[in-house]
Amino acid sequence: MDKLLSNKKALITGGTRGIGKAIARCFAEHGASLALFGINEVRGKQVIKELQPHLESDQKVLFFPVDVSDSKATMSAIAKVYSELGQIDILVNNAGVTRDNLLMKMSEEEWDKVLNTNLKSLFNTCRQVIRPMMKGRSGKIINIASVVGLIGNPGQTNYAASKAGMIGFTKSLAKEIGSRGISVNCIAPGFIKSDMTEVLSDIQKETLLKQIPMKRLGEPEEIAHAALYLASTLSNYVTGQVLTVDGGMIC
Ligand code: NAP
Repeated sequence: MDKLLSNKKALITGGTRGIGKAIARCFAEHGASLALFGINEVRGKQVIKELQPHLESDQKVLFFPVDVSDSKATMSAIAKVYSELGQIDILVNNAGVTRDNLLMKMSEEEWDKVLNTNLKSLFNTCRQVIRPMMKGRSGKIINIASVVGLIGNPGQTNYAASKAGMIGFTKSLAKEIGSRGISVNCIAPGFIKSDMTEVLSDIQKETLLKQIPMKRLGEPEEIAHAALYLASTLSNYVTGQVLTVDGGMIC
């Protein structure tokens, strides 16, 4: 396959593990330079090492330790990305957390942690990248939501609200900036193998599998391929959409 992202610069939040790391590797293999945001510096440095063999001499991969729920820290990290890479053509808002609990038992901390990491982070990142993208009349923004934002899940009112919020945010921003050549889309993964789903018990996994026509969890690379499509020129007339990648779970 031809390289689809040659000379492109991509910022991926939560690019150090699971789905974000798979997107980073896929984008690197397709010629993009990368800025990865995450909290754990050791993991960040490790990912940079792992990606090196997949890079051509004109590609860079950088890691910035930053909490994307923190507006000021995110603003200053994005400024550093612009000074190191010169531009951001693709933004992938992938960083996310869960703090599951029944609403009756949910603490304000659990609510705030999930809403601030998963949803406020979009406000923190998008606000800063859209001005230069508008000037350049091009850009791709990809927000990693979840099927849970479309159908809900008991014990996840905070997570479902954050992911449904991402979808509303995506559709609204797509309408605001579509005329400037910028697309804004969501991917809604079903259940994908990662640290986030590793904590599920065998009984929970068995119950889940019954709801998935393809009878397996997804691989992070299968989300990365959807992200590659939305990041490349192949999707140039697609905006404001939610691409569900879930083995048929909610079809
Ligand atoms: P994961 O393995 O738990 O990885 C989460 C990533 O987000 C890590 O790189 C982590 O960095 C980063 N992160 C978390 N909080 C952050 C913060 N405040 N600031 C910066 N980075 C932060 O999760 P995953 O399964 O790959 O999920 C990735 C995205 O897909 C999430 O938005 C998740 O909601 C969504 N999703 C996942 C599934 C699934 O089944 N796995 C399904 C639907 C949607 P550190 O390593 O530094 O903590």
